[in-house]
Amino acid sequence: MAITLKNVMISNGKRVDIRTENGAIAEIGSISEKGIDCSGLVALAGFVDPHTHLRQPGFESSETVMSGTRTAAKGGYVAVTAMANTNPVADTAAIVEEVMALGEASRYAFVQPIGAVTKGLGGSQLSDLAGMHNSNAQVRVFSDDGLCVFDDDLMKEALEKVLPFDGVIAQHAQDPTKTVGSQMNDGALSVELGLTGWPTVAEESIIKRDAELALETGSRLHVCHVTTGGGVEIIRWAKKQGARITAEVTPHHLLLNQELVRGYDPVYKVNPPLRTEGDAAALLEGLLDGTIDMLGTDHAPHSAEKKDCEWENAAFGMIGLESAASVLHQVLVASGAGDWELFEKIISTNAAKMLGLQNYGAIKVGERANMTLFNPDEHLQGNEPSVSKSSNSPYFPLTLKGRVQHTMRDGYFTMFDQVLEEFND
Ligand SMILES: [Zn+2]
Ligand SMILES: [Zn+2]
Repeated sequence: MAITLKNVMISNGKRVDIRTENGAIAEIGSISEKGIDCSGLVALAGFVDPHTHLRQPGFESSETVMSGTRTAAKGGYVAVTAMANTNPVADTAAIVEEVMALGEASRYAFVQPIGAVTKGLGGSQLSDLAGMHNSNAQVRVFSDDGLCVFDDDLMKEALEKVLPFDGVIAQHAQDPTKTVGSQMNDGALSVELGLTGWPTVAEESIIKRDAELALETGSRLHVCHVTTGGGVEIIRWAKKQGARITAEVTPHHLLLNQELVRGYDPVYKVNPPLRTEGDAAALLEGLLDGTIDMLGTDHAPHSAEKKDCEWENAAFGMIGLESAASVLHQVLVASGAGDWELFEKIISTNAAKMLGLQNYGAIKVGERANMTLFNPDEHLQGNEPSVSKSSNSPYFPLTLKGRVQHTMRDGYFTMFDQVLEEFND
């Protein structure tokens, strides 16, 4: 099967034709044969998400690997991760292999399982990290995401354990002793709204400790969803010291802020919480100077029962795979702050590198044909029905600038104007 994309712009601003053959990119340049007219579209390395909750096994009413990867394809993603906070927790070779197999049954996106750092996410005993790495799932990134690896000695031991195979510990930075009952960003607004505050120091103290441990051990640390200006500062400092740190920001922390909590709509309840406008500006600054390496959706589907209730009782989390690229485009490219090359690094290349995914992150002759075609002139309506099993999107009142038009994985379209439903039949 061969496909030629005609007159498409690539991230360096050049207009080219791209021919794919047998799932790989065969030619880039001026190609005489006819093909699909892609004028007005930007071809980018297929998007890679370092932070996805697919909810299977255990929470299939919120999402499954199949529905989640289909949602990913709609958002331009060709590779996603599967966070370990499932039921059972993905803390053994057998479970990460099960998730891997579920991923292989979907052609929408590659699924890289992430293993739990501690047994049952209990925070007291390390899981068999090497065992998960040596399994068929080849796990390289480990995280207790949803919870923090809080114990100093255990965090250090985890970093040391993954060093021999160049693994990564991805930390959800949240000191649980500082966030008991916390509901929203701590400050004047949380007092005004009568909701328990979530201080920035709860996040920053863990990032600081982990950065020091990364320096001490020489191991790789990934900081999940940075949300505060102070956190960006610490990572900037640690990178200067030579720490092997990568960091991600979510679309919602870039675009939204705590003012939205005023209406007590639980769709805006998320962990870590929406912060201030100043924090959002510092996060963008961090992306622009390379302190923050990548976008992580933290796509966190929840069924209506868990979200359509009182603020205090609602679950933390928002979906984000379908809207992530439009949000990043709006904040980064449409605003004039950054260019397409940076956009591509943030949404694909840097995540592929961190995850160690060989076939992703670049449009190059000889590489697999994993590409996303983005239309910067169209809009994404935030209230467009989701193909996720959940609908907890915070963008429902918004119109976002730019949208994913087509997604190609291994030379096949998984989305062509709309996500292809019959794709797995
Ligand atoms: Zn988290
Ligand atoms: Zn998460």
